[in-house]
Amino acid sequence: MKAVVKRRRRKGMKFVDVSTPKIGPRDVLVKVKVTSICGTDVHIYDWTRLAQHRFTPPRIIGHEFVDYCSDPATTGWPPVKRWERT
Ligand SMILES: [Zn+2]
Repeated sequence: MKAVVKRRRRKGMKFVDVSTPKIGPRDVLVKVKVTSICGTDVHIYDWTRLAQHRFTPPRIIGHEFVDYCSDPATTGWPPVKRWERT
């Protein structure tokens, strides 16, 4: 899958291929349909003092998106069905 990743403790990010994460019995894997950039992402990109105090690279960036559940939790919790918008 594609992801925007902050790899180092300096300005910048990379759009790269990463492995699809393994999920546990209470996890849900989502397929992102659309995403956007917010102010926090800009702080992380610029590596401002705010980002330096709250964030530890390496890490995949992004928390503003619309998605669908592609793999629901095997335990039924959280109660999200396959292809349900989350
Ligand atoms: Zn945000």
